[in-house]
Amino acid sequence: MGACVLKFLTCLTTQHDLRLVLVAGLVCIAGCFTTFRLYSRMRGARGVVRSAWLLLTGLVAGSSVWATHFIAMVAYTPGLKTGYSPTGTLLSLMIAALFMASGFAVASAQRSTTNDFAGGVLLGLGVSAMHYTGMSAFVTQGQLVWEHATVGLSAILGVAGATAALVVAGSARTIRRQAMGGGLLCLGIVALHFTGMSAITIVPDATIVVPEQLLSGAMLTLAVVSITGMIILGGLGAVAIESQTSRSALERIRRLANAAYEGLVVVQSGKINDANAAFCELAGAPLAELVGRPLLGAILTFDDTNPNREGVRREGKLQPVAGGREIPVEVFSRLMDDGARIETTGLTVLAVRDLRERRAAEEKIRYLAEHDGLTGLPNRNSLQSRLAAAVERVEASGESLSVICIDLDHFKEANDQHGHLAGDAILVETARRLQSVVQAPSFAARLGGDEFIVVQVAGGDQPTAAAELAGRLIEMLSIPVAFDGQDLSLGSSLGVSLYPDDGRTAEALMANADMALYRAKESGRGVYRFFKREMDDSIRERRNLARDLRQGIADGELIVHYQPLARAIDGEVCGFEALVRWKHPTRGMIPPLDFIPVAEENGLIGALGDWVLRRACADAVSWEKPLRIAVNLSPIQLHNPALPSLVHEVLIASGLSPSRLELEITESALFKDYQRALDNLRRLKALGVRIAMDDFGTGFSSLSTLQSFPFDKIKIDKSFVENIHRHDRATVIVRAVLGLGRSLEIPVVAEGVETDEQILFLRGENCTELQGYAIGRPAPVDALEPWTMANAVSAFTEASTPPRRKAKRPA
Ligand code: C2E
Ligand code: CA
Ligand code: CA
Repeated sequence: MGACVLKFLTCLTTQHDLRLVLVAGLVCIAGCFTTFRLYSRMRGARGVVRSAWLLLTGLVAGSSVWATHFIAMVAYTPGLKTGYSPTGTLLSLMIAALFMASGFAVASAQRSTTNDFAGGVLLGLGVSAMHYTGMSAFVTQGQLVWEHATVGLSAILGVAGATAALVVAGSARTIRRQAMGGGLLCLGIVALHFTGMSAITIVPDATIVVPEQLLSGAMLTLAVVSITGMIILGGLGAVAIESQTSRSALERIRRLANAAYEGLVVVQSGKINDANAAFCELAGAPLAELVGRPLLGAILTFDDTNPNREGVRREGKLQPVAGGREIPVEVFSRLMDDGARIETTGLTVLAVRDLRERRAAEEKIRYLAEHDGLTGLPNRNSLQSRLAAAVERVEASGESLSVICIDLDHFKEANDQHGHLAGDAILVETARRLQSVVQAPSFAARLGGDEFIVVQVAGGDQPTAAAELAGRLIEMLSIPVAFDGQDLSLGSSLGVSLYPDDGRTAEALMANADMALYRAKESGRGVYRFFKREMDDSIRERRNLARDLRQGIADGELIVHYQPLARAIDGEVCGFEALVRWKHPTRGMIPPLDFIPVAEENGLIGALGDWVLRRACADAVSWEKPLRIAVNLSPIQLHNPALPSLVHEVLIASGLSPSRLELEITESALFKDYQRALDNLRRLKALGVRIAMDDFGTGFSSLSTLQSFPFDKIKIDKSFVENIHRHDRATVIVRAVLGLGRSLEIPVVAEGVETDEQILFLRGENCTELQGYAIGRPAPVDALEPWTMANAVSAFTEASTPPRRKAKRPA
């Protein structure tokens, strides 16, 4: 070994031009360093780009090794004439490049020491192959005698250097490591070369002629140094350009990412690799603090437990690093892969969107949808689910539950009288009072209008707890509400249903509390009523009736009967009153007093009244004599602003002269909305239609009513007529009304005239017209002919003497 080293040193110092050896060394160092720079680029690339880098790496490595060899050869001065055959020189360059490229390809095929090792061996063998092929191109005036052991050693040294270089710096990222790799490779090459050279002994032989046309040392050196220098520079240039472009591309991406509103975070093996400004802000920490931290399960958790599927939107929570409230987020994740760089594999980019604003907006929308805008109480929409939840709760806990329906008494009047602002103030105040007495889990809600609900969840016994609360509510709601310097006093009616006696579902409890409320209102308001089964039945009955009536109107089950009105003096029939009848398919004839209120409650009165008016006018037109036709109007019809135009249209459609039509209204119908009713009456009167005051004496019977509007007729209610001669009071009232009519010059009709006695009395008192069974019963239109024909007879058999009932009297 010592001999070897000695021989090596002797060979180097005595047989070489040391200046050229230095040049060879520099070329080798520069080439090897560049090779490792290129090699690291190649490892980061894929596809075509990778092949291009590999080619460049092989070329730079190959030409460097080759150049080192030849410059060192030129430095070799054995004292004899030397020269180089071009073919061998060129061949050795190609071998070098080929081996280098293959070595690096094998080393980078997989990230393992085995690959680095195998690649290193290939590199070392390549350097040897190049060296000895190059030596075969060497011609000198003598025989080359090889010392085989030293040749073997040289190859081992080359392989060892190259292998060490790859094992140490095969995956180097930093320039320092890359320089180390280059240095080791360079050492291997140099060691191989000079050991190889020391294995030669030249035995001079004058017979060998060195041809003149062979390449000379000086030319070779110049060419080799410059070409290799350019290749190395090219390689370095490529590395510089590439890192500059990728740096500026990265910079651009980062700027773009930072401008993004969404948080972007790059994750590699579960740890944060990079993030944009928005994400740092969300996570509440600077990037430097975030990098390297685990993301999933630590900073970010998903609501669902599905495996992480790429490109799927998932919701989760982000826990800021510095602590504080969790942030609801929406996350899209995507594998980052630009196809050309290996650095990006295994990286996942997550786009993290802050959902706080959206959640707040959703919250607000939900609140608006579930609450009443005016009072802030839960509204009808949310009542159902809240009540259902309360029922579920008491079912489980054994607490008691009651549903209290509240309706403000006289709210409509207050609203009409004092305006909508007053109405609003009352509702807001009512809501406030309700909320002041109920504590969660009990709650209050507004159903709409002036209807409220209180759901009471109580530990106490029922119905005691509900009765106590209902009593308190009534008391509380009877306190006047201050508005605009005035005290508006109202009251309330309450209906109560209890769980489970009156229902086990929210729907049943609500419906039954509503029925109880209906009863409370019926029994004079200002009270509360508990639900009772019987109520249920009677109300269900009414509902069925309403349903049948709606169908009946459509199916033509209604008919109109006509009752005659006769002049009191001579009994001549001067008109008829239209009285509606309902022939129910299974229940038979239903009297109007049973179904008119149902029609009024269920919004059917408009259609019903419309139909009666049309029928009556059409029938009247067919009569030979132009007799009057009286039609009853419900208060609801009277308050409909469209009534005058409807009447007008019916008159035109039927061709009835307006003066023949008489509309009957009751006094109480006027009082619901006095002004609007009077407006309507004036407009009707302007059409030429007559207006009669019906059932006079049963309502307020105030003189002012009669004065406020020029009625065309007063009808004394039959309850007074039937008591003539029986009760003095009734007789007095009939006389007074007749006197009133006379003084106001309004004709008076007596209703319900059944006896000759009554006829005589009324005639004696100057009553204008008579109506009642004594004159004629209500009858279908085809039974009216005796009265409607031109030559009709008097309704009295004898005009002067006490009259008897008419012969023809329809049932
Ligand atoms: P009303 O307007 O007071 O009609 C007179 C009622 O007295 C009618 O009852 C009639 O049959 C009955 N009547 C007539 N003469 C006598 C008699 O001598 N003795 C007795 N005891 N009763 C007599 P009806 O037909 O049952 O009508 C009851 C009420 O129904 C009517 O009272 C009226 O307010 C209402 N009504 C009837 N038809 C209509 C209609 O088409 N529209 C509206 N809105 N209401 C109607
Ligand atoms: Ca009437
Ligand atoms: Ca009447």
